[in-house]
Amino acid sequence: MSQEFDFTDNSHRRYNPLTDSWILVSPHRAKRPWLGQQETPAKSTVPEYDEKCFLCPGNKRVTGGANPKYESTYVFQNDFAAVKIDQPALAVQDSGKDTLKDRLIKVQGVRGNCFVICFSPKHNLTIPQMAVKDLFTVISTWQGLYNDLAKQARDDNKPFKYLQIFENKGTAMGCSNLHPHGQAWCLEEIPSEVSQEFKSFDKYKHAHNADLLGDYVKLEMEDRSRIVLENDSFLVIVPYWAVWPFETMIVAKTKTPSIAHFTDKQKEDLASMMKQLTVKYDNLFETSFPYSMGLHQAPLNATGDELNNAWFHMHFYPPLLRSATVRKFLVGFEMLGEPQRDLTAEQAADRLRKLDGVHHYTENL
Ligand SMILES: [Zn+2]
Ligand SMILES: [Zn+2]
Repeated sequence: MSQEFDFTDNSHRRYNPLTDSWILVSPHRAKRPWLGQQETPAKSTVPEYDEKCFLCPGNKRVTGGANPKYESTYVFQNDFAAVKIDQPALAVQDSGKDTLKDRLIKVQGVRGNCFVICFSPKHNLTIPQMAVKDLFTVISTWQGLYNDLAKQARDDNKPFKYLQIFENKGTAMGCSNLHPHGQAWCLEEIPSEVSQEFKSFDKYKHAHNADLLGDYVKLEMEDRSRIVLENDSFLVIVPYWAVWPFETMIVAKTKTPSIAHFTDKQKEDLASMMKQLTVKYDNLFETSFPYSMGLHQAPLNATGDELNNAWFHMHFYPPLLRSATVRKFLVGFEMLGEPQRDLTAEQAADRLRKLDGVHHYTENL
């Protein structure tokens, strides 16, 4: 066969340089008819205030305390934190004798603290429905928390090393409370996903004397086929190696290690990108689009390689595949072999790019 390789039809594997892993792409399968169920999503009218919600202003929380009557973004310590400050420290144990236990059973204690961030006092206001100036406040709150925890680690020796800020949106992602909120978990260790990225950044820098994401931004700005949105400070792209059908990244165009280094202009630009991207997401299947999203950045009080290699970016991992109710599952070959997708990253970017920037989905308003 002397046919040319067709990336919109022939199966191929794409390399993810951040995680050092491969993704199987089967673009010919995007053409097959959908035989599964196509339900109409249940329309719900979410009220602006819900007396049963643990997160609404003035309401009682599970543990008995009450929220203040907050009027803007509000942060509090998670009542059911995954990590706690007050427990004994436990370092990785190693007898130095290369025992089976040394080889195979590794454990370390981990301390930290967890926070909940209510984006707005309104129970029904999701990120795409918020004003850019209010998203600016959310970003300032993240920045304040990052700086405050870094200071506590420096001045009070608190076990805080990495702050993972994220949002889990929608029941499809297992989110248990509809009130739009994010979380921030601060651990004394760098979690695996982030630590793998730092290894990749380091390896790339040694091999090419350049920043992995800096180079990737250059490449995407020349190619343009995977760019969904762009402003002065950020690119929104469907990464070449995306796993989820409409996965995106918001990447800083210039080297910015963390949110602590943001100028007001960058905060405005990030607020604008978050708004525009999530509006497109809602418009895609005319539903309040579920996702897990989060910030990747420098560890708290980073110095040396950690500071030099860090490059601020956000990942959005949405599960929906072809409608408000048909989602992608990572099962079968994907659990046992490697992740697989049908739609190419370029096709997904094209669909997102063409979507309107005006919010059409209004069932929540
Ligand atoms: Zn609420
Ligand atoms: Zn990342």
